[in-house]
Amino acid sequence: MRLKTILNQTLNCKSFVFKKCRSGSPVRECPTIEVEVVPRKGSKAICSGCNQARPGYDSLSPRHFEHIPIWGFLVFFVYALRRVDCPECGVKVEVVPWAKGKNQLTESYSWFLANWAKRLSWNEVGECFRTTWHHVFNSVKMAVEWGRERMDLSNISAIGVDEVLWHRGHKYLTVVYQIDHHCKRLLWIGKDRKAETFQKFFEWFEEKRIKKLKFICSDMWKAYMNVIAINAGSALHILDRFHIMAHISKAINRVRNQEVKKLKNDGEQPILKKCKWIFLKRPENLTVSQEQKLAELLKQNLKTVKSYLLKEDFQRLWDYVSPYWAILTSTSREIILLRITTAAY
Ligand SMILES: [Zn+2]
Repeated sequence: MRLKTILNQTLNCKSFVFKKCRSGSPVRECPTIEVEVVPRKGSKAICSGCNQARPGYDSLSPRHFEHIPIWGFLVFFVYALRRVDCPECGVKVEVVPWAKGKNQLTESYSWFLANWAKRLSWNEVGECFRTTWHHVFNSVKMAVEWGRERMDLSNISAIGVDEVLWHRGHKYLTVVYQIDHHCKRLLWIGKDRKAETFQKFFEWFEEKRIKKLKFICSDMWKAYMNVIAINAGSALHILDRFHIMAHISKAINRVRNQEVKKLKNDGEQPILKKCKWIFLKRPENLTVSQEQKLAELLKQNLKTVKSYLLKEDFQRLWDYVSPYWAILTSTSREIILLRITTAAY
């Protein structure tokens, strides 16, 4: 089977003819095949402004469009784009079915690279197919834009927001996921983790969809919490367990540090020294010696011990299977949280 036949069978270019296939000069140290493309006789060029067939104006110098490589050869279509004299749009470059705009790759090749980029790193894809990292990047960008234009944003009732460290020097991205039972996917990414960043998500998401949100999950980053309160106050805001416990642990540690100093100033035994993790670890994760030390400390009348007991009591909240019981005790839990954190500050 000849290359021209393969191209005719795989591409829908009825108004064009794949004329000659010849060997071209090496590109990126690879042998190349150049496929000459010409318009089919009698076919009219299509205006890129209005997508209508229009009379020709002139032709530009031949351009290379890189196509999917074959047998270790890079394949290029060589075609001189025509310009049309459009009564509506003026002089415009024609559209061709194998590539869009100023893209140097054919659309088939872009999709080919974007699909491989789902399995391999962008560098690896570039190495495998002897193309550049930028070509892989642009192909992925094209696929992402295509997907986003067709994204179904109806029936989103639960979202989660988080920050991701993506660069040295505390550079963050804000990522928003759909976390509904029927669909979990990445919805949106913004640069930085500022309130303005997250605000842009709500602007993109639009009022009609915000109204349908029932649950929003986030950590305790203040910028996010404020933006959620302003934009989606009617949705239930769920805070991340890990971050709540991290705040409690931080507070307990402050209480312990203050008490270590107080015991020292009062000339008491330094019983709270070197036992930070005894109060922070889950009881089931303590070593035998840590367990013994904790049992000793629990007998003492210490603020740190009180904070620790409050924390352990609070932990029961996570085990409730009935929302009724969680609601019933939520007020006392809030008081516990308040007491631990105010004890620390
Ligand atoms: Zn036009």
